[in-house]
Amino acid sequence: MNDPSSNLPGSVRIREVGPRDGFQNEPEVIATAEKIRLIDMLSATGLQRIEVTSFVRPDVIAQLADADEVLDGITRSEGVSYSVLIPNRRGLDRALERRDRFDEANFFLSASETHSRSNVNRAVEESLVGLEETIPVAKEAGLRCEGVISTSFGCPYEGEVPAERVLDIARRLRQAGCDEVGFGDTTGMANPLQVRRFFERALVELDGIELTAHFHDTRGQGLANVLAALEEGVSSFESSFGELGGCPVPPGATGNVATEDLVSMISEMGIGTGVDLPALIAASAAAQQVLGRPLGSHVLRAGPVEWHPGG
Ligand code: ZN
Repeated sequence: MNDPSSNLPGSVRIREVGPRDGFQNEPEVIATAEKIRLIDMLSATGLQRIEVTSFVRPDVIAQLADADEVLDGITRSEGVSYSVLIPNRRGLDRALERRDRFDEANFFLSASETHSRSNVNRAVEESLVGLEETIPVAKEAGLRCEGVISTSFGCPYEGEVPAERVLDIARRLRQAGCDEVGFGDTTGMANPLQVRRFFERALVELDGIELTAHFHDTRGQGLANVLAALEEGVSSFESSFGELGGCPVPPGATGNVATEDLVSMISEMGIGTGVDLPALIAASAAAQQVLGRPLGSHVLRAGPVEWHPGG
């Protein structure tokens, strides 16, 4: 049997997606100043990447209608790569008016036909063709580009999503100019064995681009899936501070893996994250206060391992 630790990376890169994926799913509109304050706290934690907002249509997601103000208001920290989520060409054109305020564009589409129609009212192929026209424009503007494929590990309407279909979409995103492809377990359907098999294949078939895992903890399997991906050699992850966020389809589905839970587990394994865990917990505690309800993250409640030496 292979030693499961043999592929483990020495360090990982984490993209914090809470200010977009998290805030987007909050029912109450969060004041722009509070968003800026929380993003500035995240910028001081050592996180390498932060997705700060999205240029979706303001009438579709009112929570992110302040994308311009947020980008203008944050204090950009050296060493942090800031990104925005872009749904389509029109969103990119709006984002490019703030080109000097961010570094990366993250594009998304769904691997599942039914989820795609339900989420953006477009067929997968239609979304993909649109992105194939849009991504080169972002590249020309000097932006690093990530394509995120949601429902990569399962669809609440269709069940299993064939790995072949996900890999085909990823190949086309690579061809269109993406530097990175993220695989989203949008509704928490992945299991560790599936994740292991998927990345074993993806890492061979998708050489030349960075592969990123984006797990949700909808069914409590988020960190188990992170471990499976790590053991295949995946070294790039997306997560959300305070375990904010999730996907509004199906209704009630919640929960990205919490960034502090991810950082705690990975650093306890001796793998570098570059993140100051107490500073990250402070950011999640501040978010909890802003939102006025307890957030789901384990480490936010329990504290880092080091805090309880007498245990
Ligand atoms: Zn997510």
